[in-house]
Amino acid sequence: MYCSKCGKEINEGVKFCPFCGFPSRESFRVTTGTTTSGLAIASLILGIIPVIPIIGSILAISFGVKARNKIKLYSDLGGEGIAIAGIILGTIYLLVSLISLIIVIPPLGRAKEQARLL
Ligand SMILES: [Zn+2]
Repeated sequence: MYCSKCGKEINEGVKFCPFCGFPSRESFRVTTGTTTSGLAIASLILGIIPVIPIIGSILAISFGVKARNKIKLYSDLGGEGIAIAGIILGTIYLLVSLISLIIVIPPLGRAKEQARLL
């Protein structure tokens, strides 16, 4: 797709020309339906089920942030609420995982030491 003002090549789906700021044809188009960002959905799923604790939650947060950035750029991309939910859930799971690690690991270390003494 080319900008109708300056003629430079611009990405499909962007709202404004990144070179001159002129609204692209995409922004004039009546959106009949928005596509939900796949990254936002992935973020929400990983937010609910982190698969691998900590790593899954970090992925959920990063997917959510990436999805939000994409949604802001592309007019026909939806799912910002889903992306935010993924970020929040990912953050909660990450904190819960980290706190449980802090609680669980020291007693485990002590148990090993006691086992060695016996
Ligand atoms: Zn332009």
